Amino acid sequence: MRLPLLCLTAAAAFTFSASAQDADKTTVLHAAHMLDVAAGKLVSPGEVLVVGNRIREVGTHVAHPAGAQVIDLGSATLMPGLIDAHTHLFLHPGAEDLQTVEESTPQRTIEALLAAKADVMAGFTAERDMGSEGSGCADVAVRNAINSGDIPGPRMRVSCNAVDVLGGHEDANNYNPAQHVLSNADYANNATELVAVMRQQRKEGADFTKIYETGKDRFDGVTFTTPYQYTEAELAAAVTEAHRTGSRVAVHATGEPGTGFAARAGVASVDHAYVLSPETMKVMRDNGIFAVPTFTITEYFADHAATPQVGERERAGLKMHAAEFRKQMAAGVPFVVGSDVGPFPHGTQAREYELMVEYGMKPADVLRAGLINGAKLLDWADSVGQLKAGFYADVIAVPGDPIADIGVLKRVSFVMKNGEVLRKE
Ligand SMILES: [Zn+2]
Repeated sequence: MRLPLLCLTAAAAFTFSASAQDADKTTVLHAAHMLDVAAGKLVSPGEVLVVGNRIREVGTHVAHPAGAQVIDLGSATLMPGLIDAHTHLFLHPGAEDLQTVEESTPQRTIEALLAAKADVMAGFTAERDMGSEGSGCADVAVRNAINSGDIPGPRMRVSCNAVDVLGGHEDANNYNPAQHVLSNADYANNATELVAVMRQQRKEGADFTKIYETGKDRFDGVTFTTPYQYTEAELAAAVTEAHRTGSRVAVHATGEPGTGFAARAGVASVDHAYVLSPETMKVMRDNGIFAVPTFTITEYFADHAATPQVGERERAGLKMHAAEFRKQMAAGVPFVVGSDVGPFPHGTQAREYELMVEYGMKPADVLRAGLINGAKLLDWADSVGQLKAGFYADVIAVPGDPIADIGVLKRVSFVMKNGEVLRKE
């Protein structure tokens, strides 16, 4: 429907004056400590001067301009808002494949709004959503509603549906074909189709492209195999198309040869990322291709398995992945923190930071992976992930020292996003 011009003008004027007021709002955050992510240490005390939606000054003592609101967070530690580089706002706990069958996209969009709120209230102020899993570009509407301040949520990078081959990892296989059950992903069966799907998604508002490069995995406790979906040349065509518009490709990939195809094609990240060959790890190290482990989802599936046998299989998979993670660390592969939240409850994914420490990475390195590398992967290296002058005012507080006890990330007590206080206990 076309709105009368007068209405649009009035709405635009109102929005403008509201943001003009916010632009002057000045806040000083004070706490006993503040995390310097790059240096991997605390400074004490910590202060952040926020003007509008940006950080103006950071230090042990910052300017306190007249009229500034001072928020004293006592013994807490200030730190940048958390980043989760692998989320699914459009998924909730329960049988994943059936969500697209039983729930409409309008219903799933409402769930996604609630998920976005749960994530930001838990301290996650930036996320990369790795596919709406059958709800097309509804994630674009969620991202835009957050950006316009209509609903609370992290700043989002979204991909619309992931892309997959016919009968591939995320297709609706194993149903009566006569029912024509919809795939959770968009089909592309060759390089030409990949580019066409990417252009359509880009037109509808996608920030990046997620491609299923491998799956389904088979692991019997000893031998691991997984089919690849696209050749190296096909993935290279997708990467070239993404770069044409300043965008990126992320792949769901494990095992060989698929992960090697993806790394050599120049993707931005390999998500899940286990059973990589030494050559693939070297390509990832040399080209700064991030591995995003997503341990928490496997732990959740192990803890909530339908049968003890399934639980055991998930646990064996997790143990194997932890060993692979240590190999990748030794090989110098760069990491980003991503949890695959959605199939497990939104707002609980700080567990991923904890698991990466449990599996052998130093807490300061996990924080750098999550926040500094995470910001790079989300293409916000100069605006989120650190407390720095000029960055967005995405600031949280935790009760303790995350370098001594990474578990404090699960007990976020204060959330400011874009200069606005969303949570204060
Ligand atoms: Zn995922």
